[in-house]
Amino acid sequence: MEKRLIYMDNAATSFPKADGVVQACTYYLTQAGVNVARGGYSLAYEVGENVFQGRKKTAEMFGVKDPHRVIFTAGATTAINMMIKGLLRAGDKVLVSSLEHNAVMRPLNQIKADFYRVKSDGRGVFDFLDFKAHLKGAKAVVLTHASNVCGTIQPIEEVASQAKKEGVFVCIDAAQTAGVEKIDFDCSGFDALAFSAHKGLMAAPGLGCLLLSERLAETLDPLISGGTGSVSDTEEIPPFLPDKFESGTPNLSGIYALNAALEFVSKNPVKDKIMNDTAFLIDGLSSLDGLRLVGLETTEGRTGVVSVDFKEKDNADAAYFLESEFGIMTRCGMHCAPSAHKTLGTFPQGTVRFSSGFFTTKEELETVLFAVGEFLK
Ligand code: PMP
Repeated sequence: MEKRLIYMDNAATSFPKADGVVQACTYYLTQAGVNVARGGYSLAYEVGENVFQGRKKTAEMFGVKDPHRVIFTAGATTAINMMIKGLLRAGDKVLVSSLEHNAVMRPLNQIKADFYRVKSDGRGVFDFLDFKAHLKGAKAVVLTHASNVCGTIQPIEEVASQAKKEGVFVCIDAAQTAGVEKIDFDCSGFDALAFSAHKGLMAAPGLGCLLLSERLAETLDPLISGGTGSVSDTEEIPPFLPDKFESGTPNLSGIYALNAALEFVSKNPVKDKIMNDTAFLIDGLSSLDGLRLVGLETTEGRTGVVSVDFKEKDNADAAYFLESEFGIMTRCGMHCAPSAHKTLGTFPQGTVRFSSGFFTTKEELETVLFAVGEFLK
């Protein structure tokens, strides 16, 4: 009998993708496959219109008044590198949480920023008083919206309104929340927000977005420069958006896919579904002896990522058992966020992370709980 596969690693990338994504990609690659903003023929205009629609729908979903402040990138990592390296220089004071992903910490280390990790408790809850005490003199706060290890949501709106009073730039890594949590970019006073299309939005890998405030769009240096198809009579970088930050041919099949995914996500109860699953997993896992649920005890203040640390048994053995015996795919280890594990008390052993998706079934979740129980026997 063929073994069923149960995908519980949607925090790494969603699978399956949103309805319509495969068809939209295929349509671009087979029917429309020309470049954008380069050719003066009708198919190029059609592709241009799809790119504009993707920008517009993204702006609508994330509360950005001007779609030109939606910058398409190769993914969250690229977008985060753009915001960090375009804004900060060696020695600049930066505040981060203690849960940041290496997509944030490695660029900060690379440019030799002077970063301070705001304290969190052992469940990943941000210490707002510590943040306030260290805010003075900072150039930017770079903060994950939700930890990819424990799912704890950080108070990004409160941080932004406090940081604004001191003129500090607010840059958010929304890799784990875009498409699931409500984000109101302009109203919240963020300066930059980065995410990928392939996770919560359920589009394809190789595409991400960087949302920019007007003030940051003016001062941010572009990380990449080159052809844009616009003002081609000059060798200078165009000063206007989005061209200032979008050199080279974009991921056009990815943008077609994003359009389909945005349509799907905006019409379906993605957050309700994922949080119901998360509640089911939290309840089931925390009732088992022999493991520790990492992070907050309920879905309150969490997104859909559930990590556990097996007490007497090896986490890697657990992940191996779940896959080899039950076809359950999880992610085990550090999840590219060593400081998060130090905060949560799971360094160096890491955790086994379960992340369900919009298409995960109740039966699959029941199998996950049964399988973990079998491993613990
Ligand atoms: N930040 C966080 C919190 C993440 O979980 C991830 C993906 N694991 C990233 C950034 C990077 O995303 P991507 O690999 O899509 O660039």
